[in-house]
Amino acid sequence: MRILLVRCNKCGKAQKYQAKSLILGDKRKECVYCGKSFLVRENIIQ
Ligand SMILES: [Zn+2]
Repeated sequence: MRILLVRCNKCGKAQKYQAKSLILGDKRKECVYCGKSFLVRENIIQ
């Protein structure tokens, strides 16, 4: 398991994402700040 830093593409806030697999595919994360879900792999900071 690894922790990625991702950024919400709606409100722009950075947050952590716990990746259970190295293959992200089309996994989405719900933003903890605004509630919008976004595609994890397209919004990775590091
Ligand atoms: Zn957001």
